[in-house]
Amino acid sequence: MTTLSGRFEILKESGSYRNGRFLGERHSFLTPVFMPVGTRGSVRLFPHDLLDQIGFEVVLANTYHMMLRPGADVVAKLGGLHRFSGWPNAILTDSGGFQVMSLDANFDLDGVSFRSVYDGAKAYLTPENAVRMQELLGSDIAMVLDVCTMLPASTDQLKEALYLTISWAKRSKAAHNRSDQSLFGIVQGGTDATLRKISIEATCEIGFDGYAIGGLAVGEERSLTLETVQLCCDSLPQDAPRYLMGVGDPYSIVHAVELGVDMFDCVAPSRVARHGVGWTSNGKVSVKQARYVASEEPLDPNCECDTCVRYPMALLNHLFKVDPVTLGVLLTRHNLTFMKTLISWCRKAVEEGNFNDPKRFVETYYS
Ligand SMILES: [Zn+2]
Repeated sequence: MTTLSGRFEILKESGSYRNGRFLGERHSFLTPVFMPVGTRGSVRLFPHDLLDQIGFEVVLANTYHMMLRPGADVVAKLGGLHRFSGWPNAILTDSGGFQVMSLDANFDLDGVSFRSVYDGAKAYLTPENAVRMQELLGSDIAMVLDVCTMLPASTDQLKEALYLTISWAKRSKAAHNRSDQSLFGIVQGGTDATLRKISIEATCEIGFDGYAIGGLAVGEERSLTLETVQLCCDSLPQDAPRYLMGVGDPYSIVHAVELGVDMFDCVAPSRVARHGVGWTSNGKVSVKQARYVASEEPLDPNCECDTCVRYPMALLNHLFKVDPVTLGVLLTRHNLTFMKTLISWCRKAVEEGNFNDPKRFVETYYS
């Protein structure tokens, strides 16, 4: 075991990939890790106690939503996000930048103005108040406010976003006071290798507890996503965790772990569940198909989650028609269990120094 920095230790590494442990002041977790997304303080249709049962060690919460409803100061008065959301393990909060990007937002050098998705009220986010909100929420890991660009984008657009992100990263670090909370920087630059390198160098010079690869899976081809991930992993410091933001399909996870990524988040497992789709060891399964009307088979014969152990496909097919909410709960449980199993498989591959099996699996069923 090698302890390389105060908050991250490498347990096993081979070539580019590694198993590690993030050591927060309050909570720790093993890496590689998948973080379910609890947008508004909870994963949709899935209470935190059920996430805990599956064995997740860290969840993501969206600062943007929590600052608007119920408000970061309200959460702080209630004892912080862990207490408020009934989550005993680690929490990572994003900065709100990504949500703002998808709205009709106006960026200037100082920050970004937007209208609340809830009531249309004007709101303004700066690097300093994004940090302040996350300190109030009391997450274990806070993210700097960045500027993410949808792809394809011109070099000028990417450059503008990149330099603003670097300047905001400096201000975020200067504003950050909470010693029991880690702060991660975010690398931007689209799929442009030169810009990525500039971003990595400048962000590492500022110095953070971990580094996120942002601005990917926003419209580019998946091969370009992974090419950029490789470039980033080759250049980012070995002794800090690397977090690939918003990328969480099975294919990308397995390949990105092999390239050296430690942390993932994605809404997809719970989103597809709400549309009646299970991610299984036999590929994607849509429970609404007529062939399941009288099927006694489980959703996934190789899964030990309660959804697969207790219920036949006939019930899931029936719920799709009569009670989609309950079906969403059952499929979310299965899909998140699937993600947990996939990550465990990746850890085993790191341990054994061989990614052939998980790669063959995702190439067969999830490419
Ligand atoms: Zn299952």
